[in-house]
Amino acid sequence: MNRNIIVTGGLGFIGSNLIDLLIKKKYFIINLDKVTYSSNFYNVKNYKKNYKFIKTDIGNKSKILKILKKYKPRYIFNLAAETHVDRSIDGPENFINSNIVSLFKFLECLKTFYKTNKSFKLIHISTDEVYGDVLYGRTSENHPYKPSSPYAASKASSDHLVYSYYRTYKLPFIITNCSNNYGPKQHPEKLIPKLIYNILNNLPLPIYGNGKNSREWLHVMDHCSALYQVAIKGKLGEFYNIGSGINFSNLKIVNSLLEIAKKYIHISKNTKIKFIKDRPGHDIRYALNSNKIKNEIKWIPKIKIQNGLEETFKWYLDNKEYFKTIKKNYITKRLGNG
Ligand code: NAD
Repeated sequence: MNRNIIVTGGLGFIGSNLIDLLIKKKYFIINLDKVTYSSNFYNVKNYKKNYKFIKTDIGNKSKILKILKKYKPRYIFNLAAETHVDRSIDGPENFINSNIVSLFKFLECLKTFYKTNKSFKLIHISTDEVYGDVLYGRTSENHPYKPSSPYAASKASSDHLVYSYYRTYKLPFIITNCSNNYGPKQHPEKLIPKLIYNILNNLPLPIYGNGKNSREWLHVMDHCSALYQVAIKGKLGEFYNIGSGINFSNLKIVNSLLEIAKKYIHISKNTKIKFIKDRPGHDIRYALNSNKIKNEIKWIPKIKIQNGLEETFKWYLDNKEYFKTIKKNYITKRLGNG
């Protein structure tokens, strides 16, 4: 049986955790990543066997075609993207180039590849941010897209392109929209690892606005197990929301992390919440209805948020070298002022 899987963006947070899961399941992984500031070789340092890294932009058509022909993957998980909302506010162009233009070229390669290989599936990984602000209730897969940031708009565009290639060219594609992930190996420009870095370094804890913005938090390994099950059991041309159903405000996240941290380290007097000016266009709340994946695929999230946060805190505590691999400026500099 063909056990080759391509993971794009596999030097990043979710991609590298997905590679962990797939290697444990004895697949051979080809990791395609163009190596941006958010890539980290620390994330893949343990993989020696059943693993091949190839540095490439997913928009490099000649290279991608050669890779597809050589490895003939059974599944392709597309996680390659620019991902930080604040960066998309300061400089949207990278987001348009990576998340839309490169993705388009990647789809063109898959269209060519499909002519001679019918037995693969692309799982395109997207986000709940495409739905925009969800003040009440929970969005199901047929909710209209109304992205608020250039990041979310670029992801929405990529979802539309992927779906159009399914409809027009009948390519074997599935799209997933996941809520906020947390867990090991996440770049500390994002909320939870940034708070942990600041707690470990006796720094204030910056929180946007009044801290009431609410996100649905899912442990990254629950996301990865959902992606794997969608690849195996998902229906072509379908969208699947992936969420835990558990919303926490940013304030609740910071307070929970402080409570956890107290069990392991001394908390400095400097480590206090500091409210900072909100970013423009900041959505108040995201919340997914994930009944479809639960009913049709029988996936359920397993990691309770309090346990997941504690395990995450311990991972960063035990992997202090991880932070050393990232330029300080990338962790501490305020972005997204507009
Ligand atoms: P990340 O920023 O940690 O990693 C992204 C990786 O993609 C990086 O290693 C980067 O070098 C690579 N990359 C970017 N553009 C590329 C290109 N054109 N060609 C090749 N490689 C490229 O991101 P992440 O948090 O792991 O997110 C992965 C995917 O999951 C993204 O598509 C994101 O939109 C989606 N997602 C993330 C979350 C979350 O909470 N992190 C939630 C839902 C969906």
